[in-house]
This record gives sequence, structure tokens and C-alpha cells, in this order.
Amino acid sequence: MTIYLDHNATTPVDPLVLEAMWPWFRDNVANASSVHALGRRARSVVDAARADVAAIVGAEAREIVFTSGATESDNLALKGVLEAAPRGRRRILVGSTEHKAVLDTADWLSRRGAEVVLVPVTSDGLVDVDAYLELLDERVALVSIMLANNETGVIAPLRLIAEAAHEVGAIVHTDATQAVGKMDVDFADLGVDLASWSAHKMYGPKGTGALYVARRTRIVATMHGGGHEFGLRSGTSNVPAIVGFGAASVHGRVTHDESSRQGALIERLVSSLSSRLSGVHQIGISAPRLSNTACIRFVGADAEAVMVNAPVVAMSSGSACTARFPSPSHVLLAMHLDADAASECLRFSVGRSTSDGDIDLAIQHVVEAVERVRSFGTCQARTWDVSEERSIV
Ligand code: PLP
Repeated sequence: MTIYLDHNATTPVDPLVLEAMWPWFRDNVANASSVHALGRRARSVVDAARADVAAIVGAEAREIVFTSGATESDNLALKGVLEAAPRGRRRILVGSTEHKAVLDTADWLSRRGAEVVLVPVTSDGLVDVDAYLELLDERVALVSIMLANNETGVIAPLRLIAEAAHEVGAIVHTDATQAVGKMDVDFADLGVDLASWSAHKMYGPKGTGALYVARRTRIVATMHGGGHEFGLRSGTSNVPAIVGFGAASVHGRVTHDESSRQGALIERLVSSLSSRLSGVHQIGISAPRLSNTACIRFVGADAEAVMVNAPVVAMSSGSACTARFPSPSHVLLAMHLDADAASECLRFSVGRSTSDGDIDLAIQHVVEAVERVRSFGTCQARTWDVSEERSIV
């Protein structure tokens, strides 16, 4: 038995999504670029999926570029904008709690002449707006700030961030991987130029995602070939996956009622754990957050050890005392937690299939595990090497 509380890592594929994909593996295997009838048919379902994917984020179909997922979309956004930027704009502002898909890409660019500046966050994980505004000037080519954080669920004040960036002529990218499908998202309304996300975080298949590219955004391709996806991402279209992404945009969206139900499950999880155990703190508690996510610190209990002692609960920690190079989560460090506190945090993320019974069982297993870990003490010889971070997906 496993209680799956790791929906921010990935979600199960919705049966309706699977059903929509199946014929494109079995009945029509044509290349969507082929001009024969089967090819044209494949092309038409790719176009239909593009319209469905666009609709969920308030975009036009023409603004959706299919990729292999958010990692690729983040890479294309950062590298493609910097490559196209005018000579005097070599600076990129990147949130300090971004996913590694953004941070590592920014790091790669910094080794090729870009000036990368990390935007600090408050202890609640929100962008430090004063510090951010100070960093903005005409040298900034791109600002990349995620919409919702994968570890804490904290939601950024993106409209404000985008407005300020546009005042100095910078392009705005957001990693919206954790937001799309879980909350209402309209990229035009938020004022962002580029946005990345993945189908598998919203009950769709793995290995497909999108980059939203608002019209007139200055960006060039980083992968060249057949000129697919409006010339921005060459490579034969993954028709079954794209069809699945389209279906997930229709069937995988969490409704407002479902979002409230998930919020109630998370609240009960946090309040029961807090009443049954001492030293329980929710991270980012004062910030707006995704309803399905809680990052919880259990003081004096190493998170990895708690996971080992509660094997039936699938949850995530940002550190590993058994890993060769154990390290605390960069997200939690950026939120001013020290390395030991960060090593005591676990992320719980519920989804559509999570029941009240799952939460009851998870509470029981986690309480017992935390008590056991606290009574024995666990993580031996913990030496943090911040350069070798593991991160939560
Ligand atoms: N960005 C965020 C915020 C994520 O949570 C993830 C998931 O791991 C990614 C990017 C990368 O997504 P993918 O592995 O689908 O490319």
C-alpha cells in the first residue's frame, strides 16, 4: 500500500487522457508533417490540442510551442531570449527559489558572458520586491520568476513583477509548471511574455510540455532542424503525447471545488500533525499558496529519516542523509532557513485521488515516524556540500 502525497512531482494520467492518446499509437502513426491524408489528420489533432492547451492559459493557439516539457521550455526561454537580446542587455534576473531547470540554465549562461543575478526572497518565499526593483535597469534582458513554487506552493505576485520589468524593457518569463491546472492562469492578464509548463503535472503524459510565447516576443530557436513549432522548436511532433497534453488541458484541470477540497485535506493534515506533535511548522505560511501543497518542518527529525520510517507515505524531502553529497534544499536556504532546519522539512502534495482516509493514514504514519526518529536521532555525519544540491521536482 502506498499513500501518494507527491502530486507536485508528477500526477497519474487521467483515464480520459490515456483513451485520447491510444489511437495515435495504434491506428494512425503518421508524421504530422507528412502531406498525405494520414499526416494531415495527425496535423489536425496537433492543432486541436494546441487550441486546448492555449485555452487553459488564456492564450492564442499561435502562442503555444510544444516542447518535451518544462525543462526544455525553461532552457529555450532563457537561452533563446539572451541570444536575441540587444548587445547592451546581458543581465538576467532569476528568482533564488527557482527550479533547477531555470537556475542551472542561468548558470550555464553566466559561464558564457551573461550577468546572472539571483533575486532574493523573504522568509515566506515571496520575491523581495524592494530588492527586485533595485536590480531592474536597462541592462536587464530577462526576468525569470516562477508562478508557484514546487516545494512550498508559494505563489508569486507576478503581475507586479512583470509590470516593473516591462518598464525597463526587459522580457518576462515564468516557470508555471506547478500552477497550470491547479489554479486559474491567464498569461496575458499576468503580463508575462514567456511561460513554461509540463503535461505530467496536470494528469497528462510525461515528456511533453509547452512554452507560451506572446506575440512579438524577441526570442530565437536554440534547436534547429525542420522548422517545426513556428521555427522555434524543430523535431518531429510527438503526436500521442501532444494529444494527451490537449486532453489533460480539458480533463486534468482541478476545478475550484476540487481545489477547496484539496485545501481542506492539507489544512487537516497540518493541524492534526501540529496537535499530535510538538515542533511542527509550515513553511511559507503567510504567503498565498497552492491549496494542494504543504512544506512542513518537524523540528529535531531529519526529513529523510522520517521518510525511511514511513515507507507507505510517498512524500518528498530536499535533502538526503544517505546521499553521497547530502545537501539542504536551495529553496529553503533562500527562505532564510539554516541547513539543519531545511533538512527537517517534508513536502506533502495532494491530488484528485487523495481521500480523507489517505490523510488519516498519512497522519498516523508520519506521527509515528517523527516520534521514532526523534527518539533515536538519525542522520549521521551530515556534512552539507551546497555545491552538490539535490532538488525536489
Ligand atoms: N519547473 C518546476 C517548477 C517543476 O516543478 C518541474 C518538475 O520537476 C520542472 C520545472 C521540470 O519539469 P519536467 O521535468 O517535466 O521538464
